[in-house]
Amino acid sequence: MKMPNEIPISCVCSISSTMENIVVTGIQGLPLIKAGDNLAQMISDRVAIGEGDILSIASTIYSKAHGYTKPLSEIAPTPRAERLGKLNGEDPRFVQAVLDASDDILMEHPFILSELSFGHIGVRAGVDQSNIDDGMVIFLPPDPMGAASEFRDEIRTITGKNVGVIITDTCGRSFRRGQTGHAIGWSGFTAIRDFRGDTDLFGHELKITEEAVVDEIAGFANFIMGESNNGVPAVLFRNCPTWTGHDNIYFTREEDITRRLLKEACTR
Ligand code: GDP
Ligand code: MN
Ligand code: MN
Repeated sequence: MKMPNEIPISCVCSISSTMENIVVTGIQGLPLIKAGDNLAQMISDRVAIGEGDILSIASTIYSKAHGYTKPLSEIAPTPRAERLGKLNGEDPRFVQAVLDASDDILMEHPFILSELSFGHIGVRAGVDQSNIDDGMVIFLPPDPMGAASEFRDEIRTITGKNVGVIITDTCGRSFRRGQTGHAIGWSGFTAIRDFRGDTDLFGHELKITEEAVVDEIAGFANFIMGESNNGVPAVLFRNCPTWTGHDNIYFTREEDITRRLLKEACTR
């Protein structure tokens, strides 16, 4: 692993003329995470956590610490996984891991697009083969909301501080090239900052705007983490403004036009 001190410890970004300076700190010096590691303790040992801070951790280390990993050698592919493996040029055991992690398959080719039980829709069900030993796969945490809430409690027990927690994963998006960090679990605030009913600078009432704040913070955390060998799987934010809203970040099946059209087109 490249030594993590090659990225700056913190950067200060002013988000508006009236807001305080937000301080963003990539947490350095964490070892390669193994099953059974106490992440809350390891992180608290390496950074001074303050009241109201937001702690963002990569799902990959949460899953490694909690054993949501599997050797490919223990996976027996079904005929569907064999077929999709051939179609997409992937190891059928990896494809089987993706199918096992999926609640519903929205698209099979050129890559599998899955819906997970907690509502997230992601490429290959978020199953990763990077940042883990050869021949192993990492699954997303099966209950990331519960994981974030538990992690928040653990931080409070260790430090006495109330923080917000976001568990991130790097995800692709529709319509645009390039991956960004998304929040797959959060605790301590709502996912959405609801602007509906607010008035703009000209007094017009906002009727539609619901800002997915947890994804915006996850995106910046992901930027600090990097994707390869930085070795920075956790990021602390200080002085973020607070917000109010709601947690309904996932469209219902009735609302989700893209999901419906994809599913119709791919199962035709
Ligand atoms: P994902 O976005 O949750 O799938 O995680 P990534 O594989 O992209 O890793 C995010 C960041 O965490 C990168 O900086 C990785 O180098 C780092 N990382 C991943 N696993 C470990 C680990 O076990 N220990 C440390 N110190 N860093 C890790
Ligand atoms: Mn990932
Ligand atoms: Mn990533």
